[in-house]
Amino acid sequence: MKYIYALRKQLERVPLQCPVCGETSDSIKSYSLPDVTFMFVAYSWGYEHHVACAKCMRRTILVTGFDGLLSANVVWPIFYLPRLSVHLVRTFVKGHSEDIINDLHMKLLEEDGTDTNQ
Ligand SMILES: [Zn+2]
Repeated sequence: MKYIYALRKQLERVPLQCPVCGETSDSIKSYSLPDVTFMFVAYSWGYEHHVACAKCMRRTILVTGFDGLLSANVVWPIFYLPRLSVHLVRTFVKGHSEDIINDLHMKLLEEDGTDTNQ
C-alpha cells in the first residue's frame, strides 16, 4: 500500500505533453465542464470533457463560461458559476488531475505486467 502511495505521488509530477498546446507540463488537468442551453421553452443539459495543461484549461474554462453566458443565460449562475469557479481554482494546484494519474498508473501496470495490489 505504501508503495502505491509513493508511486502515485511520483506520477503526480511526471511531465506530460498538453494535448492542446503541445507544451510539456507537470499539471495536466482533466475536467468535465457544463454544456447547457436554456431557451425557456426547451433546454439541453450535459457536460463536455476537457484535458489540457493548467494554462490551457484556464482559457478553456473562461471560454466555456463566456459561451455559457449566451447559451444558458438566466440559469448560468446555477449550472456554470459554482462548477467553473471550483475548476478554475483547482487549475492553480500543482500536479495532474486524479484520472490522469490513474491512467498513468494503469499504463505502468500494463507495461510492467505486475500487479502492485498484491
Ligand atoms: Zn496547454
